[in-house]
Amino acid sequence: MKQMSMFAALLAGLLAAGCGVQAAKKAPKVKNVILMIGDGMGPAQVYAGFTANGSPLNIMRCPFIGLTKTNSATRYTTDSAASGTAIATGTKTYNGAIGVDPDTLPVCSVLGYALRGGYAGGVVATSEVTHATPASFYAHQPDRNMGEAIAADLAHAGLTVAVGGGRNHLERRADGANYSDTLRAAGYRVAYTLDDLKRADGKTVALLADGHMPSVQGGRGNALPEATEAVLGLLKQSSGKGFFVMVEGSQIDFEAHANNAPGIAAEVIDFDRAVGVAQRFADENPGTLVVICADHETGGMTLPDGNFAEKRFDARFTSDYHTGVFVPLYAYGTGAEAFAGVYENTGIFERIMAAMGLGR
Ligand code: MG
Ligand code: ZN
Repeated sequence: MKQMSMFAALLAGLLAAGCGVQAAKKAPKVKNVILMIGDGMGPAQVYAGFTANGSPLNIMRCPFIGLTKTNSATRYTTDSAASGTAIATGTKTYNGAIGVDPDTLPVCSVLGYALRGGYAGGVVATSEVTHATPASFYAHQPDRNMGEAIAADLAHAGLTVAVGGGRNHLERRADGANYSDTLRAAGYRVAYTLDDLKRADGKTVALLADGHMPSVQGGRGNALPEATEAVLGLLKQSSGKGFFVMVEGSQIDFEAHANNAPGIAAEVIDFDRAVGVAQRFADENPGTLVVICADHETGGMTLPDGNFAEKRFDARFTSDYHTGVFVPLYAYGTGAEAFAGVYENTGIFERIMAAMGLGR
């Protein structure tokens, strides 16, 4: 009885989020989708990571490459909320919008459709889990700065798993609410450490920092690749149908805003280790698609010179904000060929929906 009412609550939540349409009845070609977003990861950021790494990145093993156009509904240069919403929901919207269209109406994400269709699903980030990119996949708010409202959406989104920082937005709130208690009451494990996440075997929200997690240079260690591995294992056993997960390298963007070239390279290499984990999962689990993309470029970064033997590069920046240029996309595994080409960021949503046999 309790389970029925929880399922009814999940359905009601998804309907409220605009996810009311039945999943298509086509046999899906792809069972599991791992969508990886390098926030701010343009070609120069990837090349900086490659140079500093001293050997080819895992990203470079992807056989199908695309370029995506990132402008928002209102601006040549997007922010991470509008681009996250475009990738997640297939809807171009205004800068700052989280899972809502230009009229601030909720639009369902591929994650919402996947949950509605019986898949497991979740998000992983090294920023606050309530930050723009992950929030675009489960929340519906008119402004990215509404962290507490986004946290409330997280508690009711019906995700299988969510990992990131942002504990304050759930537990130390102006309104005195505690959404970790809400999650526990709904049967979730709320984990506060990576080890606790690794022990999880059911619905889990891991809050690994009060705000953002530390940067790689600030001592984050292997938290992103290790969390990715733990989450893929958890999702695999959570639904026989398959899963959708978004994994974000959140802090490539932060280091690029700071024009910190070594920091950018360190974040790209860390993100690429998570890519390696996803590729190995795809190798071991046929029917898995891995898509690595970016929401926009940050910093107007370019590399006028460098030295491979010395793992060294010179970087120049033209901005401390985002730029409007194409960003690269890399695809690996089952169905990867559909991601080659040059297209709008909304095309990522459309291609994943088609790959999973989901309709809206
Ligand atoms: Mg982000
Ligand atoms: Zn940014």
